[in-house]
Amino acid sequence: MRYLILGNGPAGISAAKAVRESDAAADVLVVGEEPSAPYLRPLLTEVVTGDRDAGSLVNPQAAELAGRGIAMRFGAKATRLDVSARTVAFAAGTVESFDALLIATGGRPAIPHKLRHFEDKVVPIDSLANALRIRERAKARGVVAVLGPGFLAAVTALALRTLGKEVAWLKPGEPRFGNPEGGRVDAGVLSAARSAGIVVFDGAGIGEARESGDGLIVTPSQGGDPVSVSMVVVATERHPNTAFLRGSGVESGTGVLVDDALRTNIPGIFAAGDCAELYDRTTHESRFNFGWRSAMAQGHLAGENMTGAGKAYLRTRDDYFWRLFGPPLRDRFKG
Ligand SMILES: Cc1cc2nc3c(=O)[nH]c(=O)nc-3n(C[C@H](O)[C@H](O)[C@H](O)COP(=O)(O)OP(=O)(O)OC[C@H]3O[C@@H](n4cnc5c(N)ncnc54)[C@H](O)[C@@H]3O)c2cc1C
Repeated sequence: MRYLILGNGPAGISAAKAVRESDAAADVLVVGEEPSAPYLRPLLTEVVTGDRDAGSLVNPQAAELAGRGIAMRFGAKATRLDVSARTVAFAAGTVESFDALLIATGGRPAIPHKLRHFEDKVVPIDSLANALRIRERAKARGVVAVLGPGFLAAVTALALRTLGKEVAWLKPGEPRFGNPEGGRVDAGVLSAARSAGIVVFDGAGIGEARESGDGLIVTPSQGGDPVSVSMVVVATERHPNTAFLRGSGVESGTGVLVDDALRTNIPGIFAAGDCAELYDRTTHESRFNFGWRSAMAQGHLAGENMTGAGKAYLRTRDDYFWRLFGPPLRDRFKG
């Protein structure tokens, strides 16, 4: 059996291990788009603050894969899935075949239309490469704007503030999905952010943005005075990385649609982690993951099911949606 796993985040790595545990002879290949070895994504904010360098982020779980006979490939972006041929094509022109496939490609913050023309001054916080860009660009004088409704924006604003930057947090309402923060917690975080010296524009997105010298002038969507900033860090919700599935026949909504065994509509193809959209039969809600440890749990289950276990994911909601790596959000503002 040949198992192909797209994405080398916690979901992909856990799935590979689960496959190996069930099938000692399996041919397992894990492929990731980023050029670097898999790393601990939740610690990217510590790269921004300078508390960690890139080398100290390596994911120890991934380091174990080679010893288990699991092949890994870096810097290979999946561009097309052919479900009839059971192959995936990659940007460099290579093609890999599979008997069972896991889509575990995570997500990235969507850059709002109004910011798309200012690429060098607008940086999403999604990858190691971009965390290093944010740190470098933060050396320029001036206010940094952080855009986003929830957890990602809060930790990013705090990191930049820790670095000594003046921070304007444009917080366009409540998170829509995949985010554990809301209601009372949200209010507490806002209050803590203000106490930390972060200027919060609650309920505001980007109204207008225009270039000005080395930076941008952004007007909050709720009105108010324009703010001159050196950079906008985009920390909006992570939208699933699923462009390569277009036209493949794998059903997608916002994310890859899966049932309670993490199966897509195509036999032998599964999805797990932040890219998967799970339908909860109990509540009739669609759910997205946000969280390192829950991505691991989903990945592990998907790996078991790829080898035929047929297990369902729903034990408790918290097990599979927002088990976080690191301390709770509010505690992070106490240091
Ligand atoms: C700045 C930041 C801070 C965070 N802080 C926390 C925290 O404190 N606690 C917490 O629990 N969670 C945190 N998270 C969320 C957590 O990192 C995610 O929930 C988790 O990484 C999701 O795992 P995943 O395996 O689904 O996807 P990911 O970790 O996103 O991995 C997916 C991988 O797939 C690759 N990929 C994408 N498209 C393709 C393609 N076409 N072909 C091949 N490979 C592809 C990506 O490059 C990526 O390496 C944070 C996230 C960010 C960005």
